[in-house]
Amino acid sequence: MPTPEMSLPEAPRPRVLVTGGTGFIGSHTTVLLLAAGYDVLIVDNLSNSTADVVGAIETVAGRRPDFVCGDVRDGALLARLFARSAIAAVFHFAGLKSVAESLVSPLDYYANNVGGVIVLCREMAEAGLHTLVFSSSATVYGDSDTLPLTESSPLDPAQPYGRSKLMIETLLGDLAATDSRWRIASLRYFNPAGAHESGALGERPRGIPNNLMPYLCQVASGERPELIVHGNDYPTPDGTGIRDYIHVMDLAQGHLAALDYLNTHSGFVAINLGTGRGSSVLDLVHAFERVIGRTLPRRIGPRRSGDIAACWAAVDRARELLGWQSERGLDAICRDAWRWTSTGRRPQP
Ligand code: NAD
Ligand code: UDP
Repeated sequence: MPTPEMSLPEAPRPRVLVTGGTGFIGSHTTVLLLAAGYDVLIVDNLSNSTADVVGAIETVAGRRPDFVCGDVRDGALLARLFARSAIAAVFHFAGLKSVAESLVSPLDYYANNVGGVIVLCREMAEAGLHTLVFSSSATVYGDSDTLPLTESSPLDPAQPYGRSKLMIETLLGDLAATDSRWRIASLRYFNPAGAHESGALGERPRGIPNNLMPYLCQVASGERPELIVHGNDYPTPDGTGIRDYIHVMDLAQGHLAALDYLNTHSGFVAINLGTGRGSSVLDLVHAFERVIGRTLPRRIGPRRSGDIAACWAAVDRARELLGWQSERGLDAICRDAWRWTSTGRRPQP
């Protein structure tokens, strides 16, 4: 006699659309969604990632996400995908993310980031789908003297990238105000870094990395001769810039917590995802050196234009609304980023 459990048909798994899911943060979040029992459909145009990430996700998660190579600004494609299978929610990571590039090509940033959200939300509404987790950024804040940054700190982004994120938040707030079916969480990431602890997934920047952690990894692996510390005359304890580095797996976990929150809350909410702790450039360098057991060549250079002295998150809202807080510290960030660099990382073509 079969047990009652054996004779029950398996309940269908809820399905999440992850745009930009072969990118850095989207791929790590997809691993956790699969582990939590969701099905995942990734749409990514591969402008900053490669299709082999889908296989790496399968290796790590033990299940393969569906993958469609396409652009989120292709409304007809989204309409077809929404019609084909019931989607429970959308995680929208797809977008351009280089502050420096946005200063050179602002139209590309507005067209891709803002344009992408407009098309996506239109098609979601058309399909009767109203649950959205959006990748925002701490760049929406101005250069504030008052730290930590709370969600009500002044919003005054200094460049087109940050302004594109703020425009999107404004747009999403307006949308939620006009239709109470919308459930939207805009997650303001501070400085995502690190990699999956398996060493099979991580960050793959094209060309010379802008960000400190991938740059440090490339110095450690010998791809770059030295780290240039961008300024040591900031009004901080060691003179170097302070940021809130958050492990990418903690960040990914924050997205699952946001999805749970949206199951019972409608409207629009912006939430910081950071650790609540600031670390200087030299703090990160020293942590990295501890992990790899050797010192790294470095010299002090001039300040990088547009950089602020210090920024870290107030994390009370994330704790109160999402019941989430980061668990990993600088050493885990460095250890996992280095494992990925030294064992798993393949360069982007
Ligand atoms: P990423 O570049 O690794 O991933 C983004 C992915 O989106 C890439 O795979 C790219 O190919 C894809 N993509 C870009 N435009 C697309 C489009 N129009 N249609 C379909 N796919 C498209 O970046 P990431 O670090 O994973 O960042 C994800 C999101 O988080 C971005 O929106 C970014 O602005 C935001 N964010 C990132 C950081 C960070 O430091 N990494 C900080 C704050 C916010
Ligand atoms: N930084 C640095 N050398 C580098 C890259 C970054 O000294 O090669 C510093 C940068 O000036 C800032 C911190 O590291 O103080 C974090 O920079 P990142 O670009 O990673 O993040 P963001 O400035 O966008 O928050």
